[in-house]
Formats: sequence, C-alpha cells, structure tokens
Amino acid sequence: MPKKNPSTAAQRARQRQAATGEKYTTALRAETRPTMRRPAVEHAMFSTEGAGWAPIIRRAERELRKVWPGCPRPLWEEKFGDLCWKYVPYDAAREVRAVIRRAIKEASVTCQTCPSPGRKRVVWVGLDWGGMAWVKTCCDACYYVPPNTRSAPDYQRLVEWYENQS
Ligand SMILES: [Zn+2]
Repeated sequence: MPKKNPSTAAQRARQRQAATGEKYTTALRAETRPTMRRPAVEHAMFSTEGAGWAPIIRRAERELRKVWPGCPRPLWEEKFGDLCWKYVPYDAAREVRAVIRRAIKEASVTCQTCPSPGRKRVVWVGLDWGGMAWVKTCCDACYYVPPNTRSAPDYQRLVEWYENQS
C-alpha cells in the first residue's frame, strides 16, 4: 500500500505505478522530471488583453463610435498597470476624451485578467526568459511573482513605490 503523502520521487513513483500500471522506471522518470511550474496567469508587458478589461474596452469603443463617427480605432496599451490609448488623436473632442477617461478610471480598479476588483500590483512578466517585475492592475487570484522574488529587497522597494500610491 503506497503512502498517502509520498515525499520522495521514489515514493511518488511507486504510488504512480500502482495507480497507472506503468513500469517503475517510467513512473520514476515522470516523477523526477524537472517541473517548470507555471502560474495560472501569465502577465504580458504592455498587453491590455484579459477578461477583466475586454468589456471596458468594448464599451469605450462603442461609446467612441457614438460621439465620434469615423473615430480611429484606439491603440490600447497597458502602462504602469493603467489602460491607455497610445496616440490619442490631437483633434479628439472633449466627449472623446471623457469616454477614454472613464475607461481608464474603470480599468484602474478592475483586474485586467478577470472581472474582479483589482489594484496596482507588482507582478512578474516574461517567465520564458527569466522575467522582470512589472506593474499590472490585478486581483489577488491573478497576482503572481516567483516565490523567491517576494522577499527580495529590490522587489519590496518596487512594491512600496507602486502599490502604496493612491
Ligand atoms: Zn483577477
């Protein structure tokens, strides 16, 4: 009978073998393979994609078409965790700017990734190349930094600077 909470790779392999009927060596290989643990949410630099901001962007674009027929399609970008329109046309009317302002304000308190309330958090981007800290508006569930980063003084300084501003 395999142990309930196997802690070594050999124990896990035996449990896996019992469960799957694989050869022990196959099970052992599977259990010792270095696992690249990936977070549930992967944040991307400058990207505005995500289920939280998508409806805000859609609504803003709908409103823009109403207040400005022929309005150029905004180039949305995320910057320091905020939603922005990269090149707001110089001739944009007040109503247009108001629509943009509303969207930015709403996005600033909405998790970009899911529709939960969010706030500025220093997260991690670029896991494939080692990554770096980046500011995103997100909720606790979508927040991610590598575990060994959280206590690093450099990271803590960024948190103090970006998360504690109001
Ligand atoms: Zn979220």
